[in-house]
Amino acid sequence: MTRPFLYEALPMRVRFGAGSLKSLPDEVRSLGLKRVLVLSTPFQKDLAREVSDQLGELSAGVHAEAEMHVPIESAHRAREVAKAAGADGYVAVGGGSTTGLGKAIALEFGAPIIAVPTTYAGSEMTPIWGLTEDGQKKTGRDPKVLPTSVIYDPELTLTLPVGMSVTSGFNAIAHAVEALYAPDASPIISLMAEEGTRALINALPPIVKDPADAEARSDALYGAWLCGATLGATTMSLHHKLCHALGGTLNLPHAETHTVVLPHALAFNQPAAPAAVAALSRALGGATDPAQRLWEIAGDLDAPRSLAELGMKEEDIDRIAEETTSRSYGNPRPITYDDVRGILHAAWAGKPPT
Ligand code: NAD
Repeated sequence: MTRPFLYEALPMRVRFGAGSLKSLPDEVRSLGLKRVLVLSTPFQKDLAREVSDQLGELSAGVHAEAEMHVPIESAHRAREVAKAAGADGYVAVGGGSTTGLGKAIALEFGAPIIAVPTTYAGSEMTPIWGLTEDGQKKTGRDPKVLPTSVIYDPELTLTLPVGMSVTSGFNAIAHAVEALYAPDASPIISLMAEEGTRALINALPPIVKDPADAEARSDALYGAWLCGATLGATTMSLHHKLCHALGGTLNLPHAETHTVVLPHALAFNQPAAPAAVAALSRALGGATDPAQRLWEIAGDLDAPRSLAELGMKEEDIDRIAEETTSRSYGNPRPITYDDVRGILHAAWAGKPPT
């Protein structure tokens, strides 16, 4: 039976295809923009410079100082640079950290963002911003920070290292998993979640074999788009709360943390989410236990499977369990402090999910 739902489409334009970066100047013009600031991490500065050169007079320069989790100081700096450059829009070329910096500027000034994603994190499809101040990561939703246009060019992902391709892919799948059992799930988003998971799960093994496999890169980015859209459209539950606490408090690496935690959080929620299990089972080639299957695939693809190997200490488990249970959030299955402790302990030790 179709359950009641509310679905609101987000207003954005998506262009997808190998070589589509070429369309960026047209995209900038079609939005009526005259001086866009190109953002990137220091690591992707050369790419940002190329993009800026391609934009010519439409570029207000390059600001290559994006950092993971958008420290507030970096947001302040980027806002000053944007103001001084007279920028009327932002082109974020990179992963979630770069898109996040664009969002931090737009949160203050409200100008449009054009996102050019180069990982599978999915931030480009969401109105969610994040800022880190005094070791605490705050997030919120604001339509102002939703990118106006997104250009998905799979050629830009060819350089994404294999390890990061896998963990970033799992990060995307985590959005789809939680969208499938979200309190505000809806049929179209569930279809996107299932298809996005299928696309990524099928694309990651060929990427591990050959990172230059153009077809697999294209399919993975397609999956990332769908999974990112599911994140933008629904409210996340236990898995994202755990990863938020682990990333914000212990500064564990974002995509790797998602990869380790996902099978455990999903295993806990599976008994209370039969429709999500059915969709994931189809996406994972008929797996009867999707959580177990995701854990196996992570192992097959040499991804990290324990929080200990990401640098977490056993004594931090209680702290994260307290933080995760101190705030209320929707979750398909009621959860206690001891449940969270158990999940964290299994994830910390790298045990199979139960
Ligand atoms: P990232 O953006 O921090 O990128 C990691 C590193 O990989 C950077 O040095 C980057 O320059 C480099 N890189 C990116 N693409 C590359 C490529 N194609 N080739 C070579 N190097 C490349 O990592 P991420 O996982 O994409 O983003 C993580 C951040 O995004 C976190 O802060 C997370 O909280 C945030 N995030 C936010 C949302 C949201 O909706 N607001 C969604 C997902 C993630």
